[in-house]
Amino acid sequence: MTDPQPSALIQNYARQDIAFVRGQGCTLWDESGRSYIDAFAGVAVSALGHGHPGLVAAITRQASALAHISNHYRIPEQEALARQLVALTFPGQVLLCNSGAEANEAALKLVRLWGNVKHAGRKTRLIAFQGAFHGRTLGALSLTANPKYREPFAPLPVVEFLPFGDVAAAEAAIRDDVAGVFIEPIQGEGGVHPTPPGFLGKLRELCDRHGAVLVFDEIQTGVGRTGKTWCWQHEGVQPDIVTSAKGLGGGLPIGAIVAAPHLAALFTPGLHGTTFGGNPLACAAAQVVLGEIAKPGFLAHVTAMGERLRQGLATAFTGCDVRGKGLLLGVQLDREPGSVVAAARAEGVIVGPSGANTLRLAPALIITAAEIDELVKRLARAWAAIRAKT
Ligand SMILES: *Cc1c(COP(=O)(O)O)cnc(C)c1O
Repeated sequence: MTDPQPSALIQNYARQDIAFVRGQGCTLWDESGRSYIDAFAGVAVSALGHGHPGLVAAITRQASALAHISNHYRIPEQEALARQLVALTFPGQVLLCNSGAEANEAALKLVRLWGNVKHAGRKTRLIAFQGAFHGRTLGALSLTANPKYREPFAPLPVVEFLPFGDVAAAEAAIRDDVAGVFIEPIQGEGGVHPTPPGFLGKLRELCDRHGAVLVFDEIQTGVGRTGKTWCWQHEGVQPDIVTSAKGLGGGLPIGAIVAAPHLAALFTPGLHGTTFGGNPLACAAAQVVLGEIAKPGFLAHVTAMGERLRQGLATAFTGCDVRGKGLLLGVQLDREPGSVVAAARAEGVIVGPSGANTLRLAPALIITAAEIDELVKRLARAWAAIRAKT
């Protein structure tokens, strides 16, 4: 049902003409009451599915007690969440914010401080990779005039982009003047491309040799999505900073970074902050999510369901490359994914695009084998119908 009036919303999204009004687990219902299997989870966000009882109870309890205070005061829910996060990550300290982009901004500012405070501005270069996605802020600081906020982080960011997975290019570019290297262990928005085996380890080695900060953006790949708490744990290569968001709040907006102690200590009082960051409500939600993924068997379930989905997709999309890990999977198509997303929806399955020609699946981590089998059957039908037409 399209609203007959012109929208009061800025049209910055090419939205599909459908509105969901309710969700339970991996099922969504639209306005007309039709149900769908949700294999996208609001872009890998609803890690525990919709309406998870423990999550609902914690949010409800916290909303009644105290939803927001401010970072002018101690917030016990932040303390508890940070302890949980560190225990699942590496010895370090946590900064909480509201989104993925903000988590990466915080990491960027720490990297800048590392270059400026520790190396008197001799480490200024920033490295990232072609095809990467790290968020949509315009480097908010570059618009902020007050020197008190700007000067510790100058020069404001100019980033060099290297070919993804190219060892020789990394060896040539990462030298003593590099402050930080940013990478997604699997490029989530750029087509679900895993880093080639050994590449993260190579970056670790180069960053160690040249004193650069290694940042893993695990905003999409983290919090259990690939069958480990963090994707880097598949290869045992640890970053200096990890950035997180998306699944962390199970649907409430929260972002976080975990930074190694020598970096975390650079954020002294007043250098960084946010009004909402880590408010009690968002923290209560994230505590439930981390509590669930740490339960015995949870990650094994993600791995098993991921394998089942991968095999199902390989059959449904015979001849197409299926990439990714755990429950972050991409199917390489021979066309733009839009028509396939629409056909899947007509069959009652919600999936999404990634990059130019990739179909992305990122269902809730609690998805069942029966749901996977059913959604694969429906996707096979959708794809067969499209292939029959073209
Ligand atoms: C989604 C995403 C971001 C940005 O997160 P927002 O919450 O949309 O700002 C950054 N990096 C990666 C890898 C992401 O998937």
